[in-house]
Amino acid sequence: MADSRHLANRVEKEVVDALVAAVREAYPRLSHRYYAMKAKWLGKKRIAHWDRNAPLPEEPTQFIAWDEAEATVLKAYGDFSPRMAGIAGDFFAKRWIDAPVREGKSPGAFSHPTVPSAHPYILLNYQGKPRDVMTLAHELGHGVHQVLANCQGPLMASTPLTLAETASVFGEMLTFRALLDQAPTPRERRALLAAKVEDMINTVVRQIAFYSFERQVHTERREGELTSERLGEIWLEVQRESLGPAIELKPGYETFWSYIPHFVHSPFYVYAYAFGDCLVNSLYAVYEKSDRGFADRYLDMLAAGGTKHHKELLKPFGLDASEPHFWSMGLKVVEGLIDELEAMDA
Ligand SMILES: [Zn+2]
Repeated sequence: MADSRHLANRVEKEVVDALVAAVREAYPRLSHRYYAMKAKWLGKKRIAHWDRNAPLPEEPTQFIAWDEAEATVLKAYGDFSPRMAGIAGDFFAKRWIDAPVREGKSPGAFSHPTVPSAHPYILLNYQGKPRDVMTLAHELGHGVHQVLANCQGPLMASTPLTLAETASVFGEMLTFRALLDQAPTPRERRALLAAKVEDMINTVVRQIAFYSFERQVHTERREGELTSERLGEIWLEVQRESLGPAIELKPGYETFWSYIPHFVHSPFYVYAYAFGDCLVNSLYAVYEKSDRGFADRYLDMLAAGGTKHHKELLKPFGLDASEPHFWSMGLKVVEGLIDELEAMDA
């Protein structure tokens, strides 16, 4: 069953195994270390599982006006590539974004590609938080990707799931760096960093733990039916391993596997989130060390849409997703952000 998902994602089992191994090996340096630091911020040695995503004490309330959000994202995009900012700029100038919150409007955010002969539309529920600026950057990333890949036609423009989040997460990363540089006080800087790290842990560490849970459940199920107690035990094992000693798993948590709809409705889907995030981090690590040609190679990669295998797409960057080193390079980016937080704390 996992193999059929890999096939649909156009990715090989070895590549997914390399990702899972690299993430699990990094748990202590990522989630374990971060949650221990968060417990300390909250004045505790350990925090209960329900406080894992609790807002930080004294989280700043910053309001960013829409014009300012537009300028921030376009500047971040433009510093990377003027061509990319040009495409993103069309979304504002041609009114392809529905931003305000309205009664009866659908929640969340997305960029809908419609058909290649027409332009995409973006839906947001913008409320002026730094998180909302990042969401704008995210959806614009999808939008730019969709516009660029339109040249591939309706059958080949869209990418498999594993590559679908490349441009969005990359755009978010560029904007996050810009917001971080603009942060008015160290407190704001710390809040931005912590929020980003929590996002990354929830995308990378958590989704890989979900995937490990699924693998184990399906493997054991081959030998016979599983009781609800056994499902709870497997869940607690993988959670303990991934969250680390600073998170206390209180009674009742053993049933929390049941809140993940993917386990039933789209088995083995979850790793795609981690795949996308880690892939972008590795690309970003290359970008930070690269010369001027990077942006052009990057835009070419987006314009390929769904026509190329990840091996072909990543080759111009000297990257190969079947090598464990590829994944650890991306994880180092997350580790670096936690290092930064730790240094601010000292
Ligand atoms: Zn997205």
